[in-house]
Amino acid sequence: MGWYEGEKRELPWRGEKDPYRIWVSEAMLQQTRVETVRIRYPAFIARFPSLAAMADASLDAVLAEWQGLGYYGRARNLHRAAREVMNQGGGAMPETRDALLALPGVGPYMAGAIASIAFGERCAAVDGNVQRVMSRVLNLSLAIDSTPAQNAIRQEAQALVPRARPGDFNQALMDLGARICLPKTPDCARCPVHDLCAGRSAGTQNELPVKTAKKPPAPYTLIQFRAERNGLVLLSQREKTGLFGGLWELPGFMVEGHLEKADRRRLKAQCAKLLGPGWRPGRELARITRTLTHRKILFVVHLAENSGKGAPPASQDGRLWASEEDFRALAVSTAQRAAWRAAKSALADMEGK
Ligand code: SF4
Repeated sequence: MGWYEGEKRELPWRGEKDPYRIWVSEAMLQQTRVETVRIRYPAFIARFPSLAAMADASLDAVLAEWQGLGYYGRARNLHRAAREVMNQGGGAMPETRDALLALPGVGPYMAGAIASIAFGERCAAVDGNVQRVMSRVLNLSLAIDSTPAQNAIRQEAQALVPRARPGDFNQALMDLGARICLPKTPDCARCPVHDLCAGRSAGTQNELPVKTAKKPPAPYTLIQFRAERNGLVLLSQREKTGLFGGLWELPGFMVEGHLEKADRRRLKAQCAKLLGPGWRPGRELARITRTLTHRKILFVVHLAENSGKGAPPASQDGRLWASEEDFRALAVSTAQRAAWRAAKSALADMEGK
């Protein structure tokens, strides 16, 4: 703990005791780099300073503030859980690890982090950094993502947590992983647990943790249409759950695999279905590829042309004719912004702007 006092990372949520704010920081840190969270956390907290403020806000407002952090399911879960706590718990966060686990989006790591830091419960919080440190300290030859390895790490980590300042202990272990016991270059000479580390004494620290080969992300193609009317572009909102849930995008449809060329008949049918009669697909404007955790998505944007037959689709729930300014303010994925920019610049080239 002495090492932590002198070497801990200075982060905006350090020293925070409000469980809601700790929860937000942990949700952000789950799949986003700490340097990005360090910048984005203060603005998010300024916008939604309390559980009540989060529960009162619309999902659209929360998603818009979450923009650029990716994995929007985390924001949707935060919002849903905040409403659940306000409606069922009278606004008081659950105070134990087990009770926290019942909230949407709260898994064992996050529950352990909130319970130990905010409520002083003696429980472990095993994130990726802690897994790496523990696999080396224990000299674990099992694949890190196997059930026996996960069980061994959880049990050992739990046994190590002291009664006094369990939250600080957990954060010290995380910081040790982030600052000293680095993935490729563990700095054993400076490590406070040097003498206790079985991996270091066996000389295996650079080979640990043992990892199983990952499956490559599955390829998909998202074909989208850019329909323009009076300087406004048609957007649609995705279903609230699933990939890019609740986010805005150009209307489109997803197919498995990476398509070199879409079938023209299918393209025409989908264009009319998504935009209404009178709309047909025009030339391809852009194609960009973005990789998410499990999917590699090829975005293909087509111009949509109107033959003048049939009324253009109206703005209504889940559908919006948007200006450039609207697009900037809406909750839109980073990948979709890139596709929008690529299509816009292709259009400008076509029009000689
Ligand atoms: S001694 Fe080396 S391998 Fe062991 S925990 Fe410390 S930095 Fe990691």
